[in-house]
Amino acid sequence: MRIAALIPAAGRGKRMAEKTPKAFLPLGGVPLLARTLLQFEDSSIVEEIVVLAPPGDGVGLAEEMTARLGIRKVFRILAGGPERQDSVYHGLKALESRADLVLIHDGARPFVTPELIERVAAEARLTKAVVAAVPVRDTIKEIGDDRAVLRTLNRGSLWEIQTPQGFHYSLIVEAYEKAFRDGFYGTDDAALVERLGVRVKVVPGSRFNLKITTPEDLVLGEALAQRLAAKS
Ligand code: C5P
Repeated sequence: MRIAALIPAAGRGKRMAEKTPKAFLPLGGVPLLARTLLQFEDSSIVEEIVVLAPPGDGVGLAEEMTARLGIRKVFRILAGGPERQDSVYHGLKALESRADLVLIHDGARPFVTPELIERVAAEARLTKAVVAAVPVRDTIKEIGDDRAVLRTLNRGSLWEIQTPQGFHYSLIVEAYEKAFRDGFYGTDDAALVERLGVRVKVVPGSRFNLKITTPEDLVLGEALAQRLAAKS
């Protein structure tokens, strides 16, 4: 099975309130996106990588960055679309007849590891659709427009869904095409597969597999990057 990684990193990072697109913000001195890509570069099972970069100068910046860091598995860097779903679809098109299994992973999750990548891929080979996830720790309530609590959900069955998410290539393309036909936009890739009535399996992710979204996440990410540097 040919395994490819698809890395959406085209978000502007509006919640970050920085001029530099989030993908290029340094974390422990290394651009966030480069940290993410290096984990896939280090994974022995991933053959090639397609990256979605911020439109404008993002593609050039990403090309320069991958060349400088010697990241060789990246075969194409494309400009992303308006929404994450549009970005991922561009990437899927670029992988046509190049991959049997695709691992979709947020560029903004730089603490993914080759072990986690391999765990998702191993399960996805067998079950076709897999997400990494961790059980929720806080109580989750549904809140109405007036900020009043509508109901409390059963924590025992709630999981926080992360990436990587791994899919057989033909299945994820079918799911994306149906979503676009129906005008459906989801907040993760698996939601599109679920709409086909296909079972999606969960594998244990990691609490360290943070998505860097806000300035607070950057503080946590910096601390984690320093801790990892001290250990190596
Ligand atoms: O939207 P969210 O913050 O959950 O973004 C998750 C990932 O999707 C990030 O790595 C971001 O760069 C990427 N993204 C993208 N294209 C967009 C919006 C987000 O590739 N239009």
